[in-house]
Amino acid sequence: MSTHLQPKGPTAKGPEQWFTGEVYFNAYYTGQEPSRARLNLVRFTPGAHTAWHQHAVGQTLHVTEGVGYDQTRGQELIELHPGDTVHTPAGEWHWHGAVADQFMCHLALWEAPDPASGEPETTWGDKLTAEEYPA
Ligand code: MN
Repeated sequence: MSTHLQPKGPTAKGPEQWFTGEVYFNAYYTGQEPSRARLNLVRFTPGAHTAWHQHAVGQTLHVTEGVGYDQTRGQELIELHPGDTVHTPAGEWHWHGAVADQFMCHLALWEAPDPASGEPETTWGDKLTAEEYPA
């Protein structure tokens, strides 16, 4: 095997059923078996955020720009700044996104589960209510 420059895919818009507000992402790396690694850059416009969701094998976010939030269900809100890295363990319900008046960009690193498990990489739940997104 040798080092490969990865093809640059298009910037895609985050689907409306998974995101509130305008979110754009680039898939930078999608590992081929035996690698199941995934690396995306996700750009949230001000106020934009994910719905509640969980990752079968967890997820690590690294903030590259702006100001944002990350919150696991039932836990305190974490404010994110450039250079911050946050990890959410497998199966924990959480959301992440931009603060109301700033963009936020993060790299998202995760792994797909063993295909034999039949589990999806990410399980999506409800969108945040107006009360759940910080005022
Ligand atoms: Mn996540």
